[in-house]
Amino acid sequence: MSHYDIAIIGAGPSGSTLAKLIPSNLKTVIIDKRDLFITSQKFIEPKFNSKNLKIDDFDSKNSVYDSDFNKKILFNRSKIEKSCGGLLAFDAQKILKKLDLKIPSFVIDSNQLFSIHAIDLESKNESVYPKNYINIDRDSFDRWLFSLIPDYVDKKMGYFLDKIEKTDNIIKFSLLKDGKYEFHTSKFLVGADGALSKVRKYLNPKNTPPLYLTVQDYFEKDFNLQHFVAFFHSKLTDFYGWIIPKESHNIVGLSFRQNSKKRDIFFKSIDLRMEFLKKEISKYYPSFNKEKYFRSGGVHFRPEYVDEIFLGRDNIFLVGEAAGWISPSSAEGISFAIETAILLSESFRNLNSVLSDYKKKTLHIKKRLLFKILKSPFLYSKNIRNMIFSTNIGQI
Ligand SMILES: Cc1cc2nc3c(=O)[nH]c(=O)nc-3n(C[C@H](O)[C@H](O)[C@H](O)COP(=O)(O)OP(=O)(O)OC[C@H]3O[C@@H](n4cnc5c(N)ncnc54)[C@H](O)[C@@H]3O)c2cc1C
Repeated sequence: MSHYDIAIIGAGPSGSTLAKLIPSNLKTVIIDKRDLFITSQKFIEPKFNSKNLKIDDFDSKNSVYDSDFNKKILFNRSKIEKSCGGLLAFDAQKILKKLDLKIPSFVIDSNQLFSIHAIDLESKNESVYPKNYINIDRDSFDRWLFSLIPDYVDKKMGYFLDKIEKTDNIIKFSLLKDGKYEFHTSKFLVGADGALSKVRKYLNPKNTPPLYLTVQDYFEKDFNLQHFVAFFHSKLTDFYGWIIPKESHNIVGLSFRQNSKKRDIFFKSIDLRMEFLKKEISKYYPSFNKEKYFRSGGVHFRPEYVDEIFLGRDNIFLVGEAAGWISPSSAEGISFAIETAILLSESFRNLNSVLSDYKKKTLHIKKRLLFKILKSPFLYSKNIRNMIFSTNIGQI
């Protein structure tokens, strides 16, 4: 058993950034169920054939249940990598620059995208407009950020946070690795463990943003697509679907609200939803009428109210998406994760007022999020979207 000043659960962009910046006089540990020491699996693993997948190949603890159909439907190589589109929005680029970080070439995908092709699959309206993303390999990005954490921070990779218990001023937590439990204590605990945060569940805040399921199908690439493509269809989702072209493959993704009865009556399974999307896509991009070779799944929050942002209680804090920091209009979360981690690390300079300082420092981000929350229903209203398409007065 070890005792730490700070235990950070999760080594995604928020956890790794926080661990990199935490004052060196504080004894800190960062814990992740993934092993971020190992080289990106992408380079050593042959292409997956989704038909041959067995449930044991995945981290069943983090698979997602579709309660309506009452079976496990989404598998995630979450022991290995996070399901993500891997697009770094301008805000994320700015925040990396603020940290004086230059993205290494092995993280950057050679297929860069400078525009969005937005398509309303119902009205058939479409529009192309410029957008500045950096297309990255998300897995390499996470491993790169992790590699920047200084040596004085303990790193426990391949450990799953199992339970948290708080007594007076001490936080006890248990970790599980290869069927064996370890018990540790800390003064402060940070949940940087994403949308399915166990730390958030332990804190049990009054409000939590709705969870959206995302499915990403990987297709072999036989032509070079230059746009990030966004699809809208009100029966499929109240959010959007996408094609993200990468150097070696194209990703077709869809994000939709879990258990939305209104839409689930049209699509009784995820397969049917994805088949429908693929058929629609093939009208615009015929080469997608093929078999996928891999499916990955994940979840993200989509905040509807600012009071769903929860930063913590007593000596337990939330950062990045675990706190609810993610754009409800695009699901862009990397910039929020890094920026809130910087602000939490600064708040650790005065150990008597971490939470109140963190709240003050993130107030402007809350305002930015509020603006996105207000904007979101307009972007995703069918009529307003079509008005924008037909008048060309703005961007979706
Ligand atoms: C399909 C999909 C596509 C997306 N595409 C984009 C995009 O293109 N651009 C963008 O900006 N954002 C995108 N997002 C959102 C973005 O991925 C997240 O908002 C961002 O990763 C949040 O960073 P984080 O560090 O807070 O959490 P995460 O990146 O989720 O990291 C959480 C970490 O905690 C670990 N963890 C979780 N639970 C435990 C546990 N119990 N024990 C130990 N470790 C644990 C996980 O292994 C993980 O490493 C996408 C999200 C999804 C689902």
